[in-house]
Amino acid sequence: MSAPSILSGPLPPGSTIGILGGGQLGRMLALAAARLGFKTHIYSDETESCAINVATAGTRARYDDEQALGAFAQACDLITFEFENVPDGTARYLENRVPLAPGPRALSIAQDRFVEKSFIAGLGIATAAFRNVANEADAAEAFRALGGPAVLKTRRLGYDGKGQRIVRSAEEAAHAYAEHQGVPAILEKFVDFAFEASVVAARGRDGSFLAYDPPRNEHENHILRRSIVPAPLTGALACEAVEIARRIAEALDYVGVLGVELFIGRNGEIAVNEIAPRVHNSGHWTIEACVVSQFEQHIRAVAGWPLGDARRHSDAVMENIIGAEVEDWLALSGREAGLHIYGKRVARPGRKMGHITKLSPLSP
Ligand code: AMP
Repeated sequence: MSAPSILSGPLPPGSTIGILGGGQLGRMLALAAARLGFKTHIYSDETESCAINVATAGTRARYDDEQALGAFAQACDLITFEFENVPDGTARYLENRVPLAPGPRALSIAQDRFVEKSFIAGLGIATAAFRNVANEADAAEAFRALGGPAVLKTRRLGYDGKGQRIVRSAEEAAHAYAEHQGVPAILEKFVDFAFEASVVAARGRDGSFLAYDPPRNEHENHILRRSIVPAPLTGALACEAVEIARRIAEALDYVGVLGVELFIGRNGEIAVNEIAPRVHNSGHWTIEACVVSQFEQHIRAVAGWPLGDARRHSDAVMENIIGAEVEDWLALSGREAGLHIYGKRVARPGRKMGHITKLSPLSP
């Protein structure tokens, strides 16, 4: 079977866009796609999916279920995804049947922190100093080489700080590795940053590139609490941040929206923390504060449409609604802000249940 992985032309309204992953990012992608006249088909392995509720069709099956994947590919004109941990085999299986964007290479790089950091460093872009850790002796040795404090992170399947631990001695590094039960890891030097920021940007099928203004991001318990635009970046620094995202997108021959998470040092030095090959939580404010949101931009890019206007017409603060906070929906609905509730049934602690974006006039 050899279906092309590239589109023959812009995908017309009425076509079906498949989305792998059934969370809130898939939900907001489906809503944006609907606005442009597309149908959407969500594929998720979870019993409950807040994206399926707003899509045209849904499949609930495992990511290695070839029969279900085959039927999904047949039902879709194009497939994209909303999370980076799509198994490599799933992406490659689909790529051989239907146009897929972004491509599997971006996924496989972003899935493994060692591969990802090596790729970024290979482009001459700064990251926290890091070492691969394959055993306890490596962990101790890496700590001695980097100095402390440092952060031990599993190479795979970490998000929102899961699988991470700060260590302050070589012994503690070895011990932390042992606690991860021999799962491959990296040790990273702890970055004493002034603040965190991100670039959410899009690259079209024709290589065109547009970035949203970089927000400042504040985390609580490793989870994004709020994103604020504009970030306190000088014009030159904001340009440098965007240029970093452009180089990464070009090196990956990327198609779609990507998020690049950054540490901004006290003297204005920029280090990349990680790449998210998908729409990003720190870009949710674009729904209210830009003509074309990150979600519509992603749909435009993967569908081969021209990229839309990414300029910001207002200042904005986006706050996540986490866990039981969503129970205050009535009070939240009274705030003068754009409210988004994802419709997830269970409000587990730390779970992103919605977000709220407050606009103010563009600062001079
Ligand atoms: P990650 O899962 O790698 O995105 O990390 C989640 C959060 O942990 C980041 O947004 C930072 O707030 C913090 N963090 C991760 N790595 C480092 C580091 N090397 N130095 C300081 N803080 C870090």
